[in-house]
Amino acid sequence: MTDFQKILSDNDLENLRNGDLKVFTPVDGSLIAEVQQDSASDVDQVVANSKTAFDAWKVTPAPVRGELVRLLGEELRAAKDSLGELVTLECGKILSEGLGEVQEMIDICDFAVGLSRQLYGLTISSERPGHHMREMWQPLGPVAVITAFNFPVAVWSWNAAIALVCGDSVIWKPSEKTPLTAMACVKIFEKAVARFKADGNECPDNLVQLLIGQADVGQALTDHHDIPLVSATGSTRMGKAVGEQVAKRMGRSLLELGGNNAMIVAPSADLEMTKRAVLFSAVGTAGQRCTTLRRLIVHESVKDELVSSLVSAYGSLKVGSPLDGETLVGPLIDEDSFNNMQQALNNAKEQGGDILVGGGRSNVDGCDEGYYAAPSIVDMPEQSAVVETETFAPILYVMTYRDLDDAIALQNNVPQGLSSCIFTTDIREAEYFLSSAGSDCGIANVNIGPSGAEIGGAFGGEKETGGGRESGSDSWKAYMRRQTQTVNYSTELPLAQGVTFDV
Ligand code: NAD
Repeated sequence: MTDFQKILSDNDLENLRNGDLKVFTPVDGSLIAEVQQDSASDVDQVVANSKTAFDAWKVTPAPVRGELVRLLGEELRAAKDSLGELVTLECGKILSEGLGEVQEMIDICDFAVGLSRQLYGLTISSERPGHHMREMWQPLGPVAVITAFNFPVAVWSWNAAIALVCGDSVIWKPSEKTPLTAMACVKIFEKAVARFKADGNECPDNLVQLLIGQADVGQALTDHHDIPLVSATGSTRMGKAVGEQVAKRMGRSLLELGGNNAMIVAPSADLEMTKRAVLFSAVGTAGQRCTTLRRLIVHESVKDELVSSLVSAYGSLKVGSPLDGETLVGPLIDEDSFNNMQQALNNAKEQGGDILVGGGRSNVDGCDEGYYAAPSIVDMPEQSAVVETETFAPILYVMTYRDLDDAIALQNNVPQGLSSCIFTTDIREAEYFLSSAGSDCGIANVNIGPSGAEIGGAFGGEKETGGGRESGSDSWKAYMRRQTQTVNYSTELPLAQGVTFDV
């Protein structure tokens, strides 16, 4: 077994004892740290600090702000192995995915650096002679970033890298299950700030602040009038509460919530490729991605062949410690998560489902207190209530279709709208799936599983997934305030719409 203390010390996280938040690793269930928590009463001061930082940062030129993010990207490159290992230790995803998550942070930093020399607005033709009209994007203010346990570092960076080049200060409330990775990220950020200052740049204190705490700390941030944007990633239950609170005070929220992602497999699909895509999307991260494949909607003519090859592949999956390089399936985050999986499987059986493989607890040597689950495939007679619910565990429900329109209706007929895909070699089917009559999700893929997005595209989904978009494309606009500016360079004062008002 890897020495957990070494992973902590490689991330400058030694001597974390006597705090009131106990941190357990899902790898073997052991206690790895006790950290000091913040409380809701700390929020006012943190927000006041953030406002002061914002006042200095908003007038720093955007390309200079980009330089800080460039340095953050460099520090992340240097820390990739140790931070990736810590991600694995704290949230249980396999090492290759832990490293991939840090790579995603590096990628978004690179994206944000380029963005810092863009942040384009429009120029607009004015109806009045001697006038210029344009749109400017201005910094917004302190941004609260509330994150989930399953992407403990990448989601912060999607928000922070973009918010920082946009001129905003950042307050981060990570999941109470993953405070250590957050503390490590802030230490890495501080290294970037030290280099930025050593190069002669000014950087305000408290530009990025961390609040370690429970949901009540997140609620206090959500309620705070001095936070114009709350970006919250997590369950739909949490997002509904946050969205309502922020709307009440006329703030903005950017919500990234639960998914219930499907794959349609058409008769012409390349079944070997389909099988590989299903395995990564349904089993990877032990089914704990918002984009995890949860519903397989397969044409009746290829169902038996595909499902039997999946069942046999599931039988040979290596379930084990995520720190062991050979493992494909690591642990669930905790006992509650395992119990939720068992409950969902019982519900599926009651709703007519047939468990074809997996579902039980797997024993992993030396990891007795870890909750390792054998990924499961369940044949369902219809899309019943359990299939419409996101269970954050590796359960793949299989349903059959005859007509593509029925398959698309099934795919769309759930409360969530995050990611979707079709496997087909028929271009008509592929384009139909991507048309306005097709998938209703924020992400729609052809011959790629629903999981594993690139940072260049806008990431997010519709309906109960919350409607937010983060990461690439023009998602940066959520972190800025749009201002329409009109300049009169003439000697007259014409009014718009030909209105006269002569005194
Ligand atoms: P969670 O909702 O339990 O917690 C997420 C965060 O919200 C935590 O930091 C928590 O402390 C905080 N929180 C909880 N209640 C709150 C409230 N009322 N006000 C303010 N903050 C509150 O989610 P989780 O179990 O950590 O993560 C799993 C969920 O996250 C899944 O549903 C998954 O699909 C979703 N997720 C979505 C995306 C996406 O981009 N769409 C990405 C990752 C995870």
